[in-house]
Amino acid sequence: MQKTADIIVIGGGIAGASVASELAREHSVILLEAEDQPGYHSTGRSAAIWVPEYGPPVIRTLTKASGGFFHAPPEGFCETPLLSPRGEMMVVLHDQEELMASEQAAAPNLRYVSATEVVDRVPLIKKDVIIGGLIDDSAEDIDVDALLQSQLKAFKRRGGKLICDARVEAISHSDGWQLECKAGTFSAPVIVNAAGAWADVIAKLAGIAPAGLVPMRRSACLVSPPEGVDTSNWPLTFGAGETFYFKPSGGQLIVSPADETPVEPHDAWAEDITIAEGIEYFQQMMDMEVTRVTHTWAGLRTFAPDGCPVVGFDAGAEGFFWLAGQGGYGIQTSPALSQIAAALIMDNPVPREFQPFGIDLDALGPARLAGQ
Ligand SMILES: Cc1cc2nc3c(=O)[nH]c(=O)nc-3n(C[C@H](O)[C@H](O)[C@H](O)COP(=O)(O)OP(=O)(O)OC[C@H]3O[C@@H](n4cnc5c(N)ncnc54)[C@H](O)[C@@H]3O)c2cc1C
Repeated sequence: MQKTADIIVIGGGIAGASVASELAREHSVILLEAEDQPGYHSTGRSAAIWVPEYGPPVIRTLTKASGGFFHAPPEGFCETPLLSPRGEMMVVLHDQEELMASEQAAAPNLRYVSATEVVDRVPLIKKDVIIGGLIDDSAEDIDVDALLQSQLKAFKRRGGKLICDARVEAISHSDGWQLECKAGTFSAPVIVNAAGAWADVIAKLAGIAPAGLVPMRRSACLVSPPEGVDTSNWPLTFGAGETFYFKPSGGQLIVSPADETPVEPHDAWAEDITIAEGIEYFQQMMDMEVTRVTHTWAGLRTFAPDGCPVVGFDAGAEGFFWLAGQGGYGIQTSPALSQIAAALIMDNPVPREFQPFGIDLDALGPARLAGQ
């Protein structure tokens, strides 16, 4: 088994797979994944949506910059479309006018609609609890599995080596980096920390100051809509202030209480009480009784203290690159973030297609964070 490379990427989620695939165009790359399959953690548990008007300004820019890739992937990248129409709708309750005004100020593309139009779009919403809504029809569903598998296929086509069941347990530095895992010792002059919720654990193993990343648990469940109700065209619908959301998925509805509970990195699961609270809130909004929850899950959305991703070489350790802290936006920003990260690692200019977006690399760099 190949154990040395120009670059080793730690973490086989969407971040690691995408950057590894870009790097493999010019370098020998090994991708080490702790689990027995890639995408097992946050990447496999997302709501799978591309929402250009969501998150802090840096995220909105990166999401929009990723739109070109999603809408027109490179020739031969993927056999199916990566995006499909969905739309998003924020519903506003009677005491939430102020919140609506601030959401609209942050995203002028959001279009105000009356309570009647909200109910036209999602007929089971109780009209008397809302005053209206904000709509953005540009939001789309992402085929996350197709995206991840296509990145991994491109990575392998370019000569990259994916090694699963390879949790990095120790890291040392002497004439390059040495990474210890069950499969042996791997070495490279450059390592990329794309370990998601575990990115600060990786930094500590390498003797580097952590970035202060906090994994936040978010839970979700699947419920069946009432018989005869076609939900397939409903938009992703969420409460102003992100109090809950739901969206159609394979004939069912994903319902999430939009919880954000700080936790240690772990294999997350949904607590019954959190799901019950989410269902209760959902039922207050909807003319629909939930009689059966068919599946529950949770995943970790990992945030830096300022809510922006951490992308760049660590100033204190030669050849240690961060690609972490994507929060609740790691899928929708992955095309832009991975190509920017690969350009920085390979000392190439940021790809020309991203230049019109004015992406601020200092706002992403690890040096902005305390301890770096
Ligand atoms: C409920 C929910 C809904 C979401 N909805 C959306 C959405 O609609 N759109 C969107 O863009 N984003 C969404 N997100 C966020 C998105 O899922 C994440 O930002 C993204 O998946 C992060 O990708 P990642 O590769 O950094 O992390 P992960 O997918 O967690 O990958 C990190 C990998 O590193 C591996 N690893 C950790 N430690 C080690 C080690 N020591 N050695 C080797 N490997 C290691 C892990 O096993 C893991 O596979 C959602 C998240 C959740 C939880």
